[in-house]
Amino acid sequence: MLAAVLYGQENFRLESVPDPVPGAGEVVIKVAAATTCGTDLKVWRRGGHAKMLRPPTLFGHEASGRIVAVGENVLHWQVGDRVVANNSAPCMNCFFCQRQEYSLCPNLTWNNGTFAEYLKIPAPIVQHNLLPIPDDLPHALASMTEPLACVLHGVARSNVKAGDRVVVLGDGAIGLMFVAALAHGVRGAEGQRGRGAEEQRGRGAEEQRGRGAEEQRGRGAEGQRGRGAEEKRNKNVLK
Ligand SMILES: [Zn+2]
Ligand SMILES: [Zn+2]
Repeated sequence: MLAAVLYGQENFRLESVPDPVPGAGEVVIKVAAATTCGTDLKVWRRGGHAKMLRPPTLFGHEASGRIVAVGENVLHWQVGDRVVANNSAPCMNCFFCQRQEYSLCPNLTWNNGTFAEYLKIPAPIVQHNLLPIPDDLPHALASMTEPLACVLHGVARSNVKAGDRVVVLGDGAIGLMFVAALAHGVRGAEGQRGRGAEEQRGRGAEEQRGRGAEEQRGRGAEGQRGRGAEEKRNKNVLK
């Protein structure tokens, strides 16, 4: 198969490598869509990642595709299933895993090699972090599951409530997904019913770029140290 192999700092090459063969508990997918994460850019610039991978290595960790081969002892997946694999899986045994703090697990299994025609998914990921894709969800959107999950987790942790004004710093993929999630689910919860999703989507992003992040950046830490977006509202009211 054709695959991107990372050799070191800003050095990766498209090469022919052997097609992956699934071992026990593993599956192989034909990659349909693979996205470039900010982490991929960092790994490419630095020539590696302390935990995730060491060159020379297959590279990339966000993708969706269709299962083309299953290994022994794979119970719930079949050839032909459309799936997206998250980029890691916890060991489920260590101190942190037993407290359900999976992101702190020191024994994570990583999923590397999405920039290729085929991807072998390690057994722990098949077991814990492989997800089916609904028929009506395109592969390109499904491949963004991991960053979207980070956003939804962030929204849940941020304790934002309906009616709050919020500032999202940064308008990259993650920042824009935050804006979309907040415009649909929280801040726009009332407006959306009346005005429809399209308008809401437009307003969310627009407002963000025009008045949100920039103004906030200008005021810098001062605004943050106070009450952030809420402080802004109060100042506007006083004017
Ligand atoms: Zn990622
Ligand atoms: Zn663990």
